[in-house]
Amino acid sequence: MDNELSRTVDALPGLVWTAFPDGRIEFVNRRWCEYTGLSVEQAAGEGWQTAFHPDDRRALLEAWQTVVASGERGEAEARMRRFDGTYRWFVCRTSPIADVAGEIVKWCGINSDIEDRKQTEAALRAQEQRFELIVDRLPTRVILFGPDGDVLHANRHTLDYSGVTIEELKAWKTNGLTHPDDREAVIARFRASISTGEPYDAESRHRRADGIYRWFRVQGFPLRDNEGRIALWYFLQTDIDDRKRAEALRAELAHLSCVNSQGVLTASIAHEINQPLAGIVTNASTSLRMLSAEPPNVEGALETVRRTIRDGHRASEVMTRLRALFSKKAVTTDAVDLVEATQEVVGLLQDEIRNKRIVLHLKAADDLPPVAGDRVQLQQVVLNLLLNAVEAMNGVEDRPRRMLVNIERDDGDCVRLAVTDSGVGFDPQHASKLFDPFSTTKREGMGIGLSVSRSIIESHGGRLWASSNTDQGATFTFSIPRRAGSISASDQSAPTRQSAHADADQVERSR
Ligand code: ADP
Repeated sequence: MDNELSRTVDALPGLVWTAFPDGRIEFVNRRWCEYTGLSVEQAAGEGWQTAFHPDDRRALLEAWQTVVASGERGEAEARMRRFDGTYRWFVCRTSPIADVAGEIVKWCGINSDIEDRKQTEAALRAQEQRFELIVDRLPTRVILFGPDGDVLHANRHTLDYSGVTIEELKAWKTNGLTHPDDREAVIARFRASISTGEPYDAESRHRRADGIYRWFRVQGFPLRDNEGRIALWYFLQTDIDDRKRAEALRAELAHLSCVNSQGVLTASIAHEINQPLAGIVTNASTSLRMLSAEPPNVEGALETVRRTIRDGHRASEVMTRLRALFSKKAVTTDAVDLVEATQEVVGLLQDEIRNKRIVLHLKAADDLPPVAGDRVQLQQVVLNLLLNAVEAMNGVEDRPRRMLVNIERDDGDCVRLAVTDSGVGFDPQHASKLFDPFSTTKREGMGIGLSVSRSIIESHGGRLWASSNTDQGATFTFSIPRRAGSISASDQSAPTRQSAHADADQVERSR
């Protein structure tokens, strides 16, 4: 090699070498010698091999022989020993040089140091492995998605729960892993999060390996890189099935207790009235028969009519007794703090309200007097109105789900409680029908809640009515008299009223 060329080659920022067409090394540049501590003579022929890590030599030699045999350019990675005995990773690239006739006359190559890249890659791999190990061991379901929403990884817990492979999990939008009733909403929410970068938070049912669907709270968070781009989404799925069941137990109980009180009342009325009614019908037909006989038995008919009248009186007495019984029960003249009683009911529904993403505001005036009545019955009414409002907002997705419970003074020494929701509302023409027993628009409704609530409120000397909001949803209001002679709460216990108000605010803040 002439001097000029040799100087140029020596100055190249890599370890440069040339080889004969058969693969024997002809020349190595100064950098090559400086790095390895070997001389050109030592490197020539097959000597260069000692400059590579013993573990990499064989593969490198095979790669080199393949390249030489093919006559094509090629590259391979291997560790090269530095003069001080340390090894660093290099990528060795080579190309053939051919004469005008196309015959290879020489090979020329350059080895570039890629140790830093290799170390970064290894560190990243180790980090990924550590991350996957941690994720795998988490006692919850974790799924990692790419920025476009493709499944990248699912931890062991997820795959074990569903009894699927990662490949099967990737087809989650179509293969029934998500409950058919939840699927559409889940996919829509998921897509919305992926496209907007907004965290995901919703509840849905997912299939267990044995085919049973359980409820999960699913939360998804984007992980962003230094430039703020989403690099990864991680989704956590927490099993809330037991809690969901408990909620459904509780909601049903509330309905059942209403049905029960109505049922018991109906049964006792039926029993008490049936007897005299049966007597009236028998006596009336007997007197009919006697009067239409030839000759008519007027004496006998008179007697049976007297008995008919007696039975009629008996039925009416029964009614009076029942009414007295019912009203006596209702007008338990306890002093009920309606705000406190309502807060207790709200507490019962707190989880349900939070899960359904409802913002509840409980607003209470400062100077409310206690009302006269039965605390439990009034709570039953409030519970009914709140549950109805929650249910009315079930399908609402295009606006905030808001619920306002407003307790304030009403005319005529009454206290008024109104539950306003942003739900589906009702047709104003049907406002009075809603209170008819067994009138329901719900698939699993019983249509009992409002009729029982109205009878409770009326037995307290109050009124319960429904009105349509001007924008969205409905308002159900009742108004009942304050306890006779009671002084207002602001007069007697202002601090209580204050704390009730503070709690109400807290309710709103904690949503
Ligand atoms: P159920 O809840 O079992 O249907 P209710 O007597 O409590 O029985 O309610 C009767 C009907 O009144 C409901 O089916 C519903 O159509 C209507 N309703 C009750 N509350 C609301 C509300 N907040 N918004 C709209 N409609 C309501």
